[in-house]
Amino acid sequence: AKEAVRVLVTGAAGQIGYALVPMIARGVMLGPDQPVILHMLDIPPAAEALNGVKMELVDAAFPLLKGVVATTDAVEACTGVNIAVMVGGFPRKEGMERKDVMSKNVSIYKSQASALEKHAAANCKVLVVANPANTNALILKEFAPSIPEKNITCLTRLDHNRALGQISERLSVQVSDIKNVIIWGNHSSTQYPDVNHATVKTPAGEKPVRGLVKDDTWLNAEFITTVQQRGAAIIKARKLSSALSAASSACDHIRDWVLGTPEGTWVSMGVYSDGSYNVPAGLVYSFPVTCQNGEWKIVQGLSIDEFSRKKLELTADELSEEKALAYSCLS
Ligand code: NDP
Repeated sequence: AKEAVRVLVTGAAGQIGYALVPMIARGVMLGPDQPVILHMLDIPPAAEALNGVKMELVDAAFPLLKGVVATTDAVEACTGVNIAVMVGGFPRKEGMERKDVMSKNVSIYKSQASALEKHAAANCKVLVVANPANTNALILKEFAPSIPEKNITCLTRLDHNRALGQISERLSVQVSDIKNVIIWGNHSSTQYPDVNHATVKTPAGEKPVRGLVKDDTWLNAEFITTVQQRGAAIIKARKLSSALSAASSACDHIRDWVLGTPEGTWVSMGVYSDGSYNVPAGLVYSFPVTCQNGEWKIVQGLSIDEFSRKKLELTADELSEEKALAYSCLS
């Protein structure tokens, strides 16, 4: 039998956490034959709710779930974990300045980073979900310098999946027949959902999405804003933010990272920029990546037209500003 993998979920008593932990315990994240031990962290005001989630995990009798650690102690939560999904964060409340939210999150990520650095298993893979996700990932790295850059990522897979969903509805094709959309940049409304390299499997072979949609006006405007603003649309409809789809996409992100992307297919992940596509090195930026043997690689050599170039730059500029703001909270 395989040895159990320890998966940390922070903010586990929250909305996304509640949707995410049963998916992990069912094998959605790491596969149906991979036993898991869940480590759940939350803050003291959420301790009782967290214990309730633990009770439900016991009650659900998941065959793959070999243990549950539910704690408000970051060191206990981080000890021995192989995968860390960072969902806990300070939400932006009405009337709060961006800088105040940033400063709260900087201090959360600072302390969790050092707990992870000191106590996680070697080669622990980290996925940051809590917003501002890209910049929280940067801060985490700053305070966990011994965790390699390649092990720290942030979630833009939900945006990627939303783009697939929009194309699927528009063309009335299966989402599983569409591939290679890209989310560039920040997990924010400046992200750039790009279909210029996306294709659809049809009975007559693979066809470019642009050719099939035949409506550049829709693709260059409404499609982009729909994906960018989908989170807000869900809050409006549900009166709560997207938790189910965020949790499911977090599982997709980790599964593809660990188990690999299918040949010829890429996905979007927020990763350290190495300067590819002229994105400033040292930002955590969403790129198209392929994964193999537990490592991601930025897809190289894609053509970027003038329209796209501007969008890539706009979202990079926002990330540079966020980075500056975050570092100003450190001093
Ligand atoms: P959620 O579980 O709904 O969201 C958690 C985080 O994920 C938020 O930062 C949220 O950002 C972010 N997020 C990223 N992508 C998405 C998406 N597509 N849809 C929705 N959210 C997204 O929040 P809850 O408030 O229900 O739960 C948060 C938990 O974190 C609570 O249990 C709380 O106790 C804990 N917490 C932990 C702290 C700590 O570790 N020190 C501090 C504060 C809270 P956004 O806010 O932009 O929606």
